[in-house]
Amino acid sequence: MTKVLLASRNAKKLAELRRILVAEQVSGIEVLGLDAVPPFPEAPETGATFEENAAAKARDAVAATGLPAIADDSGLAVDALNAMPGVLSARWSGRHGDDLANVALVLAQLGDVPEERRGAAFVCAAALATPAGAQTVVRAEWRGSLTRSPRGGNGFGYDPIFVPDGDTRTSAELDPAEKDALSHRGNALRLLVPHLRGLV
Ligand code: IMP
Repeated sequence: MTKVLLASRNAKKLAELRRILVAEQVSGIEVLGLDAVPPFPEAPETGATFEENAAAKARDAVAATGLPAIADDSGLAVDALNAMPGVLSARWSGRHGDDLANVALVLAQLGDVPEERRGAAFVCAAALATPAGAQTVVRAEWRGSLTRSPRGGNGFGYDPIFVPDGDTRTSAELDPAEKDALSHRGNALRLLVPHLRGLV
């Protein structure tokens, strides 16, 4: 088995990548999370783009562990806010990870914005870095529009206010498997699959 590190402590992300490898019939790869390797200092995400953050996280993880590593960075890009909150999505309200405050702030900022200009995209960059120094960075987007109030109890972050194009439910009203099949993160990880096959 070739070990590949997913530079994340998020059990849902680990499970999602493992499901994708099974679905894409990639065998011979064992995906480990950060909890399965000795701790190393994790640099703050200070890049100006999702791609820079993902690539830096993957490179740091390879340097610390010697394993091929995957990292992702994601967020919400709102058309009427010129693609913000973008890389600041997790800390838009000033407090890192305060999902309720982040959602409330985006809704307030879009208070006067009419339906036809409430477009947004979830964006995910995913990077694969190898001990030999190779690096691949991919990006995927999931287009939709923003509601005027939160709906749904699944997901996290901005899911309760994001209605994917072609649906009437928010992404917090989709079941997790439905979201994986459509989402920015699922699609970015799937774009890495051909490169993962190359490691085996
Ligand atoms: P991270 O890339 O996991 O650090 O996510 C960055 C931030 O972007 C999260 O804290 C959320 O606010 C937002 N975000 C990223 N992906 C999603 C998603 O699938 N649903 C809702 N919010 C998301």
